[in-house]
This record gives sequence, structure tokens and C-alpha cells, in this order.
Amino acid sequence: CGIIACIGTDDAVGDLLTGLENLEYRGYDSAGVAVQNGSGIAVRKRSGQISDLGAAIAADTPTGQVGIGHTRWSTHGPPTDANAHPHTSQSGRVAVVHNGIIENYEALRARLREEGYTFRSDTDTEVVPHLVEHYLDRGLEVETAFERTLDDLEGSYAIALLVDGEDVVYAARQDSPLVLGLVDDDETGERRYYLASDVPAFLEFTDQVVYLEDGDVATVDRDGYHIRDREGGSVDRAPETVEWSP
Ligand code: GLU
Repeated sequence: CGIIACIGTDDAVGDLLTGLENLEYRGYDSAGVAVQNGSGIAVRKRSGQISDLGAAIAADTPTGQVGIGHTRWSTHGPPTDANAHPHTSQSGRVAVVHNGIIENYEALRARLREEGYTFRSDTDTEVVPHLVEHYLDRGLEVETAFERTLDDLEGSYAIALLVDGEDVVYAARQDSPLVLGLVDDDETGERRYYLASDVPAFLEFTDQVVYLEDGDVATVDRDGYHIRDREGGSVDRAPETVEWSP
């Protein structure tokens, strides 16, 4: 029900937990994070409260500067640890958080099972990391693999995705909100980015935002971001300053 991602921050886990707490008002039954920690993608996820997730993280804290987080409001599969997001691909190379519903997930799951993929959750979401890995295994670049995956999906989504070894967040939206937050200070040279389903998630970090629109696909790394449409053409969306009274 809520997505938060951060790119280039000193403490990804800390910022993700702050973002998840800021999204609590939307309601949720589970929460989780995935972080690039230098030796693979570390995932921590729990059904229950964000404090339960916080306890799991405190027991074994991944460190990194790029990560994704999620509060889940179950639509497919009960609220269990296994069904909490992020969901990972077979090899653990791809991690995904998703808001919305993949309407054709049963057909996609059948197709992937025939190809030997094993499913570890009851969610509609889990087809997404497997599809991305499937296309990566066929030699496609990450952006192309992600676009092919989006072509396969029917339904509504805001998606944020990590690929092992890359300090990059890939994101897309269709009928589910997603907004980019920018910290881009020419004087200090400080540059970091947030992605969230709603502005309050990162408002304490920045009030500079770019609202993504349906069909947008975004690639965000520590040097900047670029937004494309589903045909691959560049999309220009001007940053704006939000005025938000809490
Ligand atoms: N349909 C997904 C699930 O049940 C995502 C739900 C959400 O938006 O939180 O896991």
C-alpha cells in the first residue's frame, strides 16, 4: 500500500524506516525493505507492525545507500512474512516492491512455472521479479528486461526494483501513484533521491518533487534520473516545490 525508495543516502535502512513510518496512515498489514549492501541484496520483511520489522532489522542491520521499502495491504495471499514485500527472483538478483494488482498473474505464474521458476509466496507481485530475471537471463539490459516485464503485466502498479550490484532504482507506474523526491544542492554537491507513493513519505528530506504519470518508466541513480515513456522516448517532467501542510 506504500512504497519508499532511496538512492544515495548515507543510511538507506534508516531513511526507509522513516519513510515507512510516514506512510503508516495509509494502512498496512506487513512491511519490508531491501538494500544493496555490497554483497548482494539484503531483504528484511515481516507481517505485523513496522516496529516488528524494526526489531528484525536491529538484530541484523544491512548497510547501504540504495534501497526499497514497502508497506503491504494484502490483496492476494494472507499477511504472512513470506507474502510481505520485497519479493525476490529465484537467484536473489532482483528485488521488487509493488502497489496495486497484477490481474493476469495466474497466467504469468503458469508460464514461469513451466520454465522452472519456483514461487515462494501467494502474491500476484512475485511474477514481477521472476519475469525480470527471465529476461536478464536471455541477455537483455536491465532497462529492456524491465520494459519487457511491464509489457507482460495487466493491471495496476507502482513498482520499484533493485538489481544486484547496481546502485540504481528502476521504477514504473500505471494507475497507482509514484512521486520522485530530489535533493540536488549545487552548493554542497549533495545529491540524493527518493521515490514514494506519496509525498509525506519523504517530506522531511525534501520538498522538491517530480510527479510521475501513468506509463512513465524511471531510472534513478546517484548522478540523476531519467524518465521514459513505454515506447522508450524521453519524457521531460519539471521538478516542482510542494507546499504541504501536515
Ligand atoms: N497485490 C499486492 C499484494 O497483495 C500488493 C498489495 C499492496 O498494494 O500493498 O501483495
